[in-house]
Amino acid sequence: MSEAFRRIASTISSAVESRLFSEYGAIFLTRAEPPPEIIFRDSTEVERFQSSLTTRSAMLGDHLMELQREAMEALLAAAAEMKRAGGSITARAEDAGRRSYQDTVRLWTRNVTRGLDHWQKEGRITASRAQEIVALSPADQVSVILALEDEGRTFFGTFFDKSILYSVAAPGASQHLALLAFDVSEFEDPEVEGMLASFGWHRTVASDFPHFTYLGYKEKDLSELGLKKIARPYKGRDYDFWVPDL
Ligand SMILES: [Zn+2]
Repeated sequence: MSEAFRRIASTISSAVESRLFSEYGAIFLTRAEPPPEIIFRDSTEVERFQSSLTTRSAMLGDHLMELQREAMEALLAAAAEMKRAGGSITARAEDAGRRSYQDTVRLWTRNVTRGLDHWQKEGRITASRAQEIVALSPADQVSVILALEDEGRTFFGTFFDKSILYSVAAPGASQHLALLAFDVSEFEDPEVEGMLASFGWHRTVASDFPHFTYLGYKEKDLSELGLKKIARPYKGRDYDFWVPDL
């Protein structure tokens, strides 16, 4: 297990941090600049970290993407190689690369709002409880929503059948804040995932199929670094994810 990985694991101070580390923690192994903590608490912390990074911007398909320079150079090399092989690697959306703290809050709030509506209609959450949750800060909502999921099986994922963490990152915990994540349009193409893997980009967030993370290592090195491979099905095929082996 790498030193950076061990160090960040030793800072875990709550059940929420422990959960977030187990879901998103592979990023702390990156050869580029890992985030300084498991969850950024506000936009000031995110902006301070992002402005300390050396970045590079480039078009990937229709969208201009900004990532940490080392991550972008590996991505561009994979895209060039894929083009020579007759394929492509392009951005899935305008927010496929860099995100701000406010972006992660907006995505989180969208799922929380939809989930509260759904579970009120199902009679599993009262209107007053829903109002209390809405009134909390997004950072404070995280532990409440995860507890509701654990206790009552009222899930806040997009289809209300899985945890919210499989649909959207907790605010301040998205790998996109570290400029080390990229959502790929052609994620269903097995050649694309092989090409990305050979340039150090791997799936590290279980069940987020288009989402790749820059680790900078070949697949054969990931077990030794402290990750384990798990498989998740999507449209009749199993996809591999590398997650912390805790
Ligand atoms: Zn993503």
